[in-house]
Amino acid sequence: DELSNKIAAGEVVERPASVVKELVENAIDANSTVIEIDLEEAGLSKIRILDNGDGIEQEDCLTAFRRHATSKIKTETDLFRIRTLGFRGEALPSIASVSELELKTSTGDEAGTHLVLRGGEIIKHELTSSRKGTDIIVQGLFFNTPARLKYMKTVNTELGNVTDVVNRLAMAHPNVSFRLMHQGRQLLYTNGNGDVRQVLAAIYGIGVAKKMVPISVQSLDYEVDGYVALPEVTRASRNYMSTIINGRFVKNYGLAKAIQQGYHTLLPIGRYPIVFLNIKMDPLLIDVNVHPAKLEVRLSKEAELYELMEQAVKGAFKKQRL
Ligand code: ADP
Ligand code: MG
Repeated sequence: DELSNKIAAGEVVERPASVVKELVENAIDANSTVIEIDLEEAGLSKIRILDNGDGIEQEDCLTAFRRHATSKIKTETDLFRIRTLGFRGEALPSIASVSELELKTSTGDEAGTHLVLRGGEIIKHELTSSRKGTDIIVQGLFFNTPARLKYMKTVNTELGNVTDVVNRLAMAHPNVSFRLMHQGRQLLYTNGNGDVRQVLAAIYGIGVAKKMVPISVQSLDYEVDGYVALPEVTRASRNYMSTIINGRFVKNYGLAKAIQQGYHTLLPIGRYPIVFLNIKMDPLLIDVNVHPAKLEVRLSKEAELYELMEQAVKGAFKKQRL
């Protein structure tokens, strides 16, 4: 019901950045190759996400706004082999419950659907002609949860959070073209040609991207590849260490520490490297169902992965010095 949607929204939709993350992940799960994100006031007044993915069938549109209605999990065993970014069926109902949400979507095989919801209530539902894909506009975020609204920081801070989220999604999905616009200004464009180095150049600048060396290692259970910056290129924040597991950006203290150990004594105190690591593993070895925001994960065979990561970073520089 509406109350439980609002409660769930408290966990899933913390700020504009979490809305953008959930909606873009949906677009990726729907096999989109082009995703455009358009914001006003860092998303506080307007977020628009346009994709060219599979779209939602007419008869599934209302279900998509019901809690725990997901098209991505069918059996209990699916829950332990998660290959999509979403699976909890909470994002759409949660976001809709705290905003005014407009959806236009079409599979391309039938007429599209046009839905408008306000505070989770459907105020318009009609068929529309529409191109294949999905177009979602979220306005007046948190209009009916003033306590949450009050908690929002400045436009600049919120925009920083959104940018971080989009950058990471773009890194994790180099074969998808992303465009991030804020009040008519382009903040990120990636061409979707699959080359991670080009994505890194778009995010960190060509100068930094040129100082990043490729790494690629594997063990029995893990495959790690990516790019690590030479020790001369450091930052004052851990934020530039991006780890992706099976297409999902994750935070894990052990991973960050293993990367830093790979740099050994080469990092000045308080400085952190710019790193992008893409880890592939059997979904059975990872539990992403720890928190609704799906940012933290639990790993089986952690030690093996940490060791591999440390060796990967060390190895990258050895090759560089030859
Ligand atoms: P989840 O992603 O966990 O399944 P959501 O609430 O995020 O749950 O989305 C509900 C459902 O709506 C999804 O399972 C999917 O079927 C559909 N959906 C949402 N966004 C899109 C999109 N951009 N393109 C196609 N289908 C979508
Ligand atoms: Mg989702």
